[in-house]
Amino acid sequence: MQKGLSQRALSAQPSPTLALTARAQELRRQGVDVLSFTAGEPDFDTPDFAKTGALEAIHAGYTKYTPTPGILPLREAIAEKFERENNLRYAPDQIVVSCGAKHSLFGAFMALLDPGDEVIIPTPCWVSYPEQVRLMGATPVLVPADETTDFLPDYDALRRAITPRTKAIVLNTPCNPTGAVFGRKPLKEIASLALTHDLWIVADEIYEHLVYDGHTHESIGALGKEVFQRTITVNGVSKSFAMTGWRIGYLGAPTEVARAVSRLQDQMTSNACTIAQYAALAALRDATPDWRAQLQATFDRRRRLMVDGLNRIEGIRCWTPRGAFYVYANVQGLIGRTYDGRTLSSSADVAEFLLTTARVATVPGEGFCAPGYIRLSYAVSEAVIEAGLERIGAVVSQLS
Ligand code: PMP
Ligand code: GLU
Repeated sequence: MQKGLSQRALSAQPSPTLALTARAQELRRQGVDVLSFTAGEPDFDTPDFAKTGALEAIHAGYTKYTPTPGILPLREAIAEKFERENNLRYAPDQIVVSCGAKHSLFGAFMALLDPGDEVIIPTPCWVSYPEQVRLMGATPVLVPADETTDFLPDYDALRRAITPRTKAIVLNTPCNPTGAVFGRKPLKEIASLALTHDLWIVADEIYEHLVYDGHTHESIGALGKEVFQRTITVNGVSKSFAMTGWRIGYLGAPTEVARAVSRLQDQMTSNACTIAQYAALAALRDATPDWRAQLQATFDRRRRLMVDGLNRIEGIRCWTPRGAFYVYANVQGLIGRTYDGRTLSSSADVAEFLLTTARVATVPGEGFCAPGYIRLSYAVSEAVIEAGLERIGAVVSQLS
C-alpha cells in the first residue's frame, strides 16, 4: 500500500477566511447574487505610485533573483519607515522581506519554536496564528477577551497562562477580527510579562495605519531597549497600500532572529518576487499623506455605517472597532432562535443562515477562536454595506 501524507499535512486546517471568500466568489460565479463581507483586503486599486515602481523594475530588467532577505534599497526604506513611523531602530540587516506578512509570521514561528513550546495568543485572534504555531509542533495557549474589556486580554489571565514552556506571545494591534487597539497600558503589561518570563513578542502591526476615533497605533518594541531586543515586528504592504496580491510582507528582528528567518527562507522560497519588491519600495517611498488620509477616512465612514446598522438589528450587538477594517458582531442573541423548523445553535449556524437565506457572506467566530460572533469586513462600498444590512435585518426579523 502506498505510504500516506505527513502528520503535519494531515493535521493542517484550511484558512476559514480564505475558504469563505472563495465560497462567496464561487456562488457569484454560479450567478447567485451574494454580498460578501468576508474579504480581508481593501477594495481600493493598488495606487499608481506602487504600480509605477513595478513597471520601471520590469523595464530596467530587474527580473532576476535578489538576496533572500530582499533588495537593500527596500530593506533601507523599511528601516527608515520603522524609525520614522514606529520609533523602532532596525538596521537593514535586521529586516527580512517575505512573500506576505503571513509568510513573515511563519518564518518567525519557525525560527523561534520547537515542538512542545507554548505560545500565548490573546483571542479573538486571526485564524492563522494558532494554525501556524501548531504546524511547528508547538501549542497555542489561548487567552480570551470580549467586548466588556474592549477585546483586550486581562493581565492576570495572561500571567496565569504562562508556564515554563511558554516561548512567545503574539500581539496583534490593531486586531483582526475585533478592531481592538492596544494602548500604552496593555502594551506595557505584555512587555513586562515578556521581560519577567523571558518571552519573545511577535507583534503583528499590519493594520497600523487604520485607526479611528483618535486612537493611535503604538509599537511595543518602542517601549524600551530590552523589549525591543525580544520583539519581532511584522508588517507588510497588503493592507496599508491595497497590495494584497503583490505578496510582500516583512519583519524586523534582533540580528540573530533575522538571520535565522532568512536562512530558513533560503530553503523555502528564496527572495520574495523581485518586481513586487520594487513596487513595495515605491509604495513606501512615494505614498502621499493624501492617499493614506483618503483610505483612512473612507474606512472610517463605512465602519460607522456598519456598526450603527448592525446595532439596529434586534439580536445583534456590535462593539465599535478602533482599528483595522472589520466588525466583530456579537450574535449570541440569535442563537437558539429557529427558522424553517431548524434551530441556530452556534455562530457558524448564524453565518450559514445569513449566507443561504440573505445571500450575505460573513466569517463565523469559530475560526477566530471566539464563537458567538460573526466577522464582517467593511472593505466594501457603502452601497454594499447598506444592501447587506437590509438583507440581514429582513431575514433576522423572520426568526422565531
Ligand atoms: N496578519 C493579519 C492580522 C492579517 O489579517 C493578515 C491578512 N491576511 C496578515 C497578517 C497577512 O497579510 P499578507 O500575507 O497579505 O501580508
Ligand atoms: N487576513 C485576511 C482575512 O483575515 C485575508 C485572508 C487570510 O489570509 O486569512 O480575511
